[in-house]
Amino acid sequence: MKPSDTPIAFIGLGLMGVPMVNNLLKAGFTVTGFDLNAEVAEKFSGQQNFKFSKSPTEAVSDALVTIFMLPDSSIIDGVLWGKAGQEGIASHLKKGSFLLDMSSASPVSSRDNNQKLKELGIRYLDAPVSGGVKKAIDGTLSIIVGGLAEDFEKTYPLLEFMGKSITHVGAAGAAHAVKALNNYISAAGLIAVSESLIAAEKFGLDTHVVNKVFNASTGKNNTTENKVENFMLNEAFNSGFSLALMSKDVQIALKFIKDMECYSDLAQQCVKTSEEANQSLGKGADHTAVFKYVKSFQ
Ligand code: NAD
Repeated sequence: MKPSDTPIAFIGLGLMGVPMVNNLLKAGFTVTGFDLNAEVAEKFSGQQNFKFSKSPTEAVSDALVTIFMLPDSSIIDGVLWGKAGQEGIASHLKKGSFLLDMSSASPVSSRDNNQKLKELGIRYLDAPVSGGVKKAIDGTLSIIVGGLAEDFEKTYPLLEFMGKSITHVGAAGAAHAVKALNNYISAAGLIAVSESLIAAEKFGLDTHVVNKVFNASTGKNNTTENKVENFMLNEAFNSGFSLALMSKDVQIALKFIKDMECYSDLAQQCVKTSEEANQSLGKGADHTAVFKYVKSFQ
């Protein structure tokens, strides 16, 4: 999959999509992008190998690889199959081309989409990412891939321009399941750290010192290492990953755990806290603002 002969369509140019496209452009790929928010096109001004399309169907018409970096499964399904008078892209995708869904989405929807796209001769892979905006910029995302092994091998060289740890975990839909479970674990850590630091503060402790101890002890996790000092204690709450998206991820994980008929008490509480915090903090809140939400109960 060489940059010179692999035209790419990229749909969803948000906080993650923009830096991912920048890395593809840097590698020499030609990218046609589409986003509902046409203003994002300005972020690529002066980039010769980038073109912003008027519609998603036009964006994908010449692509050998179409990449999605969209919010959730209902939006993904709308873009693919059409919604409310808007034509879907599925019938415009080239036979034999690849659709890489790099969004975080429902594993069941992804499995269904794989089946329907297979009938149209399209090769589907779910390839969600972990690592956030910083790693998207650095091209060092962790990429989890579901789909046929031969398709994984073919797309691996392209994925390498966006990520570092790239792991094939199973059939289509498997990666979206693993991604949701990962984000549930991460969200549970975020809530636990928020509760702990606020209680420690009320006890009169220095939360910076407390977090330092966590990082040198068994409580260490992604929140203690990367979020507490950078986004929480300084009240910046600007990590670039929204609380709405975190809430979506833990809901997908809970549904998956329940569908597997497994113990899910902690996941249920995690969904409840995430949803309530999301409603209380309002649209646009960053996921690290869960700390502020938990603090409001003091
Ligand atoms: P975002 O909200 O910044 O970007 C989503 C983009 O999709 C927006 O620009 C929006 O205008 C566009 N969009 C929405 N509906 C559309 C449609 N019908 N057609 C075309 N464009 C449409 O979100 P993000 O933070 O970039 O996240 C994208 C995906 O990546 C989500 O699934 C998220 O869960 C996942 N993710 C995010 C992060 C992070 O740190 N932000 C990390 C890992 C995974």
